[in-house]
Formats: sequence, structure tokens, C-alpha cells
Amino acid sequence: MSSGPSKPKIRKKEDYVSHFQDAWLENVEYKNWLIKINEETGKCKLCWVTFITKHDGEKAVKAHMNSKKHKRMIQNINSNQVLTTFLPQENLAENFKVAIAEMSQIYYNVSHHHSYLSMIVHGLWN
Ligand SMILES: [Zn+2]
Repeated sequence: MSSGPSKPKIRKKEDYVSHFQDAWLENVEYKNWLIKINEETGKCKLCWVTFITKHDGEKAVKAHMNSKKHKRMIQNINSNQVLTTFLPQENLAENFKVAIAEMSQIYYNVSHHHSYLSMIVHGLWN
């Protein structure tokens, strides 16, 4: 910080609180959605909304975080994540092969009238 005598500067509050703080990008509350555009502008990568931090500083970031639009977006993302946990995530073809192998084993045992007990004894049933 330069505070030479040649530059008498009247410090306003916004001079040191309003600029975009890089620390916000590390903040657990913001880091999943906040992007820095420049020293005065931030952006939400979820809502695709930009907001000016020049005047309100972190308040502008918080205001967006608490906005209906942003909350709805977070809700949508969370519900989508819940949905994807029910979807098969592994290799479908591999799972299909395993299913076929298991079913053909069961078919073999059933069609040859093997009991479940004999399958266990022969290690065919686990
Ligand atoms: Zn947002």
C-alpha cells in the first residue's frame, strides 16, 4: 500500500471492502459457484448471473447466494444429484454380461432340478 504525502486520499469505506476478494473463491459458501470476472464483478456459474461487487462487496455475493433464483438452482442441482444416484453408473455392458452369466447359471440349475443346497455345496450359489 502506498500512502505517500503527495497523494492525500480520502478513504471511503468501499475502497478496501468492495473489491472482489480472492478469498471468497475459497469460502465454502461460495466456492462451488462463484467466479471472478474482474476486481469489481463476480459471476455465478450455476445461474450464469453476474453481479457487481464494486459498491456492496461481499454483500453482493451474499445477496446473490440468498436470491430465489440461486436457491432454486441449488435445489435443482441437489435433486438431480439424488436422481443420478439411482441410475446405473458403471459399465452397462459389463453389468449385462454378469447378469446373463448369473441367469444362465440359475437356468442350468433349475432345468437340471438342482436344489439350492447342491448349488451351495458345489459353490455355484453365493
Ligand atoms: Zn447463482
